[in-house]
Amino acid sequence: MATAKCVFCGIEQEDYKGTYMFKNDGSTNYYCGSKCYKSHIKLHRDRKRAAWTEAYRNVHKKSSAKKN
Ligand SMILES: [Zn+2]
Repeated sequence: MATAKCVFCGIEQEDYKGTYMFKNDGSTNYYCGSKCYKSHIKLHRDRKRAAWTEAYRNVHKKSSAKKN
């Protein structure tokens, strides 16, 4: 079973669960669900400001995050 990575939140899950966006330039965006799809396409949210994303957690390093 193939997995795909959500371009918005960075989660990996089985590819049949989410949404694919095929763009005219040939690239593909995968979204894990309508939450990420809408946030990116319709609401133009910054992924660093959406609390459930990987990018947010990297920026706002919470409690047990590793330090360099
Ligand atoms: Zn997602």
